[in-house]
Amino acid sequence: MSFVFDLPAVPSLPVTGGSARFPVHRIYCIGRNYADHAKEMGAQAVSRANPVFFMKPADAVVADGGDIPYPPATRELHHEVEMVAALQSGGRDIDPAHALDCVFGYGVGLDLTRRDLQAAMKAKGLPWDVAKGFDRSAPISALRPASEVGHPMQARLALAVNGEVRQDTDIADMIFPVPEIIAELSKLFELKAGDLIFTGTPAGVGPLVRGDRITAELRGIATLEGRIA
Ligand code: MN
Repeated sequence: MSFVFDLPAVPSLPVTGGSARFPVHRIYCIGRNYADHAKEMGAQAVSRANPVFFMKPADAVVADGGDIPYPPATRELHHEVEMVAALQSGGRDIDPAHALDCVFGYGVGLDLTRRDLQAAMKAKGLPWDVAKGFDRSAPISALRPASEVGHPMQARLALAVNGEVRQDTDIADMIFPVPEIIAELSKLFELKAGDLIFTGTPAGVGPLVRGDRITAELRGIATLEGRIA
């Protein structure tokens, strides 16, 4: 088969302790998965009946340590530190009891957000794509295989900007834990190997400016460093 132009590179992430990289298929995100963050955003009481999902393009990933360009067309770039689950298999209508079998490993990432544009879209009832799915909006650490660290249900999730801690929680506080996120997503989409899932952010989101240095940590599992360029 030939193509009318060269195929673009497959977006990928490094894997801790290995030379083979993780090829990225899709990036799914859940919103309002920590009660304290939903509250700071002024959301109504979080309903477990209606998880909020959105997506970023696969080539939005920025591998650990890479410069993160300040995006155009925003005056309010916000950080959202999140645990990221990386899938090695998928399917439809996945039973939560077996959902963790789909998970290759875990990392820590930033769901970068043009908060000013998101607020404008929310006010008009319009889609969030321009606020969430922009170029390089998904810096993510190297992935740590579950074969090494298991499937963490408790771990400190934190973000420091220029050495000052801005977000600090434990993943045990997620409203939908990873197996339930996978089960809910698989009712809506056929999940596949290579899918990444941003699992939601705790309270403390706030602005980033050019020159800021970020350090994100999922304790015992992954760290992410980067700079807003
Ligand atoms: Mn988020």
